[in-house]
Amino acid sequence: MLFSILSNFTEILVAMKKEDMHPESVMMSYGYKPELSEGAVKPPIFNTSTFAFKTAEEGKAQFEIAYGLRDKNDNEELGLIYSRINNPNLEILENRLALWDKADDCAVFESGMSAISTVMLEYLKPGDLLLYSSPTYGGTDHFIHHFLPTIGVHCITFDHHHTQQEIIDKIEASGHQNRLKLIYLETPANPTNDLVDIEMCSKIAKQFSHSEQKVVVAVDNTYMGPLWSHPLQNGADLVLYSATKYIGGHSDLIAGAVSGKAEEMQRVKVLRTFLGNMASPNTCWLMLRSLETLKIRMDQQTKNAQQVAGYLKQHPKVENVFYLGLLTENSAAYPVYKKQYSAPGAMISFTVKGGEPEAFAFLNKLRLIKLAVSLGSTESLAQHPASMTHIGVDPIDKKRYGITDNLIRVSIGVENAEDLIYDIQQALSE
Ligand SMILES: *Cc1c(COP(=O)(O)O)cnc(C)c1O
Repeated sequence: MLFSILSNFTEILVAMKKEDMHPESVMMSYGYKPELSEGAVKPPIFNTSTFAFKTAEEGKAQFEIAYGLRDKNDNEELGLIYSRINNPNLEILENRLALWDKADDCAVFESGMSAISTVMLEYLKPGDLLLYSSPTYGGTDHFIHHFLPTIGVHCITFDHHHTQQEIIDKIEASGHQNRLKLIYLETPANPTNDLVDIEMCSKIAKQFSHSEQKVVVAVDNTYMGPLWSHPLQNGADLVLYSATKYIGGHSDLIAGAVSGKAEEMQRVKVLRTFLGNMASPNTCWLMLRSLETLKIRMDQQTKNAQQVAGYLKQHPKVENVFYLGLLTENSAAYPVYKKQYSAPGAMISFTVKGGEPEAFAFLNKLRLIKLAVSLGSTESLAQHPASMTHIGVDPIDKKRYGITDNLIRVSIGVENAEDLIYDIQQALSE
């Protein structure tokens, strides 16, 4: 009996290729061969700018592929050339990150903003049209409002209030519908947790695509990925990350990532080569370390957040709590939530009774939770969107999106939930 269980087990293991396993099971090993590095169990940091070719012919072949002059032959791999193009730490990290979203490929950047701006620059040329969801991250908002118009890109927006038909009407009314190139989404929206339907937007992209133009859908998945949401499965072409957040997860690095289908990733990687904004071997190494605990960190963070949100909801000094775990089944957002997310995440926004003075009093009294921007890290962080991350948002838009003076945003970490609740309790008391 015991023997048969054991032999079954080994058969299962043999039948399961590494690619078929859950990402968390292979984050310690995937894409790295110890025998190429003196048997070291962990990848060394490859602090080298350049790599020696075996022959001149090999060097020529590598450059042809790297510059996109020809496709790879069967079984041909892009070898190591120069660390702006590729580096072992960068490649191992990209291969591992791609697994979470079941993407063909991934590109890692030196910041979330460089991932976002590189995608926008690749897909938007003078005269093109960008459709984007609002609100977006402050840096993204700035790039769209203050940089893209200077190179002649037209930008129009929608938010969770708009229906599919209303969005289509907006595209047609812009006068640039034949130049629509990119639909850029951020969902859940920061800081309000409003949801955008990715599948609906990918239908709109298909409707405006024709033989000469493919409308690409890109989703900033920083808030929910790469664990609780997989936009590629809802029809997106590219998924973007500030890897500074959950992926890095320890508030000790800045990085970004883009994952997606092979043909789109080829374009993104070629532009990255020439903008030169890839992450360094050191940063990649730190992220490889972070990925080993990504799932247990995020699991604990969302468990804690559910308890904290429940506490906030019943507190007499709290007016409203915006948390995906508190959505009611009859709300308009609920079907989108069920379709796109496997957990409610660890980002909570809530309003305290009163205004800025009451919000500031709460923030100043926190002891365990740090008063800082950023999110997705092991430690819990709290901030005041109206005067901090979203200070640059137009006052009318602020009102429309509910970024009020009494709104507080909290990112929940891996601490003990009881201690977090105790800290919030004492900070809300007189
Ligand atoms: C932080 C953040 C960014 C920008 O990323 P950086 O790593 O700071 O450049 C983009 N989008 C969202 C949703 C973010 O939270």
